[in-house]
Amino acid sequence: MSALDLPGWKHVYSGKVRDLYRPADEAAAADGRMLVVASDRVSAFDHVLEPGIPGKGELLTRLSLWWFAQLAGADGGRVIPNHLAGGEAPPAAVAARAMVVRELDMQPIECVVRGYLTGTGWAEYRADGTVCGIPLPAGLENGDRLPEPIFTPAYKAPLGEHDENISFERTVEIVGADTAAALRDTSLEIYTRAAALAESKGLILADTKFEFGLDADGVLTLADEVLTSDSSRYWDAAAWRTGSTPDQRMASYDKQIVRDWLAAAWDRTGTPPQLPADIVERTAGKYRELLDTLAG
Ligand code: ATP
Ligand code: MG
Repeated sequence: MSALDLPGWKHVYSGKVRDLYRPADEAAAADGRMLVVASDRVSAFDHVLEPGIPGKGELLTRLSLWWFAQLAGADGGRVIPNHLAGGEAPPAAVAARAMVVRELDMQPIECVVRGYLTGTGWAEYRADGTVCGIPLPAGLENGDRLPEPIFTPAYKAPLGEHDENISFERTVEIVGADTAAALRDTSLEIYTRAAALAESKGLILADTKFEFGLDADGVLTLADEVLTSDSSRYWDAAAWRTGSTPDQRMASYDKQIVRDWLAAAWDRTGTPPQLPADIVERTAGKYRELLDTLAG
């Protein structure tokens, strides 16, 4: 992994995309601040790929910060508490791709909300007429809008293992009834607000994933990255309305470009192949375009 030497911070963990640091000084570490640095690494099918996408860490961070601000009330809705610590700037070397956050008691649930049918949801629907066990009306096509957004949680597996879709009942068993209901309701609320805002900019927010933790006072708090092109599927709304093939309807501003290339180029055994330069460039371009379209 690519942990950096950052003055005042000590590296503690690297996920597939982000590197986490705590204050080097014991006393400073006691107040529970953390530095989250988004790298340019890109993962698909739970594998980190080579090479990275130049500028991706910065684009993800800027987009997350913009969405955190919208959800803190800039969009006119209620304040969704988030993990940003405020007050302290990240070290200069990573200023544009890092956030100083409050370390939370993370809930081991990936809170997925789907407003449209695609990806693994489409595959399951085609086979069984359900998405994550939730029955849906017959006759839907790949890329169609769902009658209403659905909450389809996944259990967040420890590093190296694959996340697993679970039912709402299983979520209740893992985190308790109150927290499970709060995760579901907050996730659906954020999706609805974000999808409306995206739509006003000509984008469809097809689906997305949130992570939450509890802060020191037990308040459910939005963490990690939010509504980025890594954690979400964004499509061009005009293309979706007029397109006649799935490819035309789902013109992506997200990691789908990488997933589609990898799915065609790799049989999922051994090490994934190197991403070709044109895929890297297209992905970087789409990530930039998304930030410009939403926040520009
Ligand atoms: P994994 O943790 O399995 O490696 P990942 O590949 O998604 O998953 P990254 O997104 O690269 O990991 O790393 C970010 C990590 O930081 C995640 O484990 C996430 O749950 C955790 N995290 C994000 N925000 C906070 C927070 N405020 N407090 C504690 N942990 C956090
Ligand atoms: Mg993650």
